[in-house]
Amino acid sequence: MPEQQVVVVGGGVAGAAVAFAAARRGLAVTVVDAACPGPATAAGAGIVQPWSAATDGPYHDLYAQAAAHYPQVLDRLAEAGVGSVDFRRTGSLVVSADPGVLTAAEQRLARRRAAGAPTGVVERLASVQARELFPPLAPGLGAVYVPGGGRVDGRTLRDGLLSGARTHHAVVRPGRAVLVPAGGAPHVRIETPDGTDELAPDAVVVAAGAGPTRCSPRSGAGSASSPSAGRSPTCASTASTPATGPACCRWPGTTSSRSTTRGWWPVPPARPAAASTSG
Ligand SMILES: Cc1cc2nc3c(=O)[nH]c(=O)nc-3n(C[C@H](O)[C@H](O)[C@H](O)COP(=O)(O)OP(=O)(O)OC[C@H]3O[C@@H](n4cnc5c(N)ncnc54)[C@H](O)[C@@H]3O)c2cc1C
Repeated sequence: MPEQQVVVVGGGVAGAAVAFAAARRGLAVTVVDAACPGPATAAGAGIVQPWSAATDGPYHDLYAQAAAHYPQVLDRLAEAGVGSVDFRRTGSLVVSADPGVLTAAEQRLARRRAAGAPTGVVERLASVQARELFPPLAPGLGAVYVPGGGRVDGRTLRDGLLSGARTHHAVVRPGRAVLVPAGGAPHVRIETPDGTDELAPDAVVVAAGAGPTRCSPRSGAGSASSPSAGRSPTCASTASTPATGPACCRWPGTTSSRSTTRGWWPVPPARPAAASTSG
């Protein structure tokens, strides 16, 4: 049977994860990324702590399974020669000025821990203790400390997943993808400043994020993504990411060219934390 061809539109963390998983299973994967401005993957705080979320049901189940999947993904990436993903079990804080909100979060955490969630032993902290762990916190916020919480640098995860996908023979192509209706799976036209090319895969996965409509891969007359000869590349044609970002988006302790500082987050090494509001 001929190799199944899959095109993944979008090389953010979602598309990169799909590409790695599909390429690892032996599918012939092409990732197309337009380097649209403002990808969520470069902006995300990277907090990995689903267990205090107020939502139950399929959304929470997927969220929790994804968080629990990190060690396995990192192992699979290591097998593919990728060891550069910055994921840490930092512990995390749920913070609120309202004690009732924290109590409700504690109850959800206890319920999910009893069902097997790897929260660790959850602790209620007074404001002063919470600020010791996370100095930027405003005074007056109480907290629930969740030792199982972690933090990931989405950019290193995305780059690692793409690199792992390449190890499994995926191809990553710069360019803007436009879906062209066809009999089965749509064709994918790839637009670059040097010209266009059209692929006819067996399946297309659109993981184009929630970015600007000018990057939308949807086809259709009059839409922002309809073909337009000579269109200036509002989406850059390389897959590079911005070299710097706002200080609040920098990953503490990163030694890449992006930043060598610990930014605003001088977390004590013994029990560091990532903070989020409850919800
Ligand atoms: C401020 C902020 C904080 C966040 N904090 C957290 C957090 O603490 N924890 C957490 O779990 N999540 C967090 N998130 C959410 C998380 O970052 C996103 O869910 C995730 O990064 C989405 O990844 P993505 O690949 O879907 O999208 P993106 O990273 O936006 O990637 C989409 C990609 O598609 C490409 N693209 C778009 N259109 C086309 C096209 N037509 N052709 C080719 N390529 C195209 C773009 O160039 C881009 O690279 C946060 C997000 C933000 C914005």
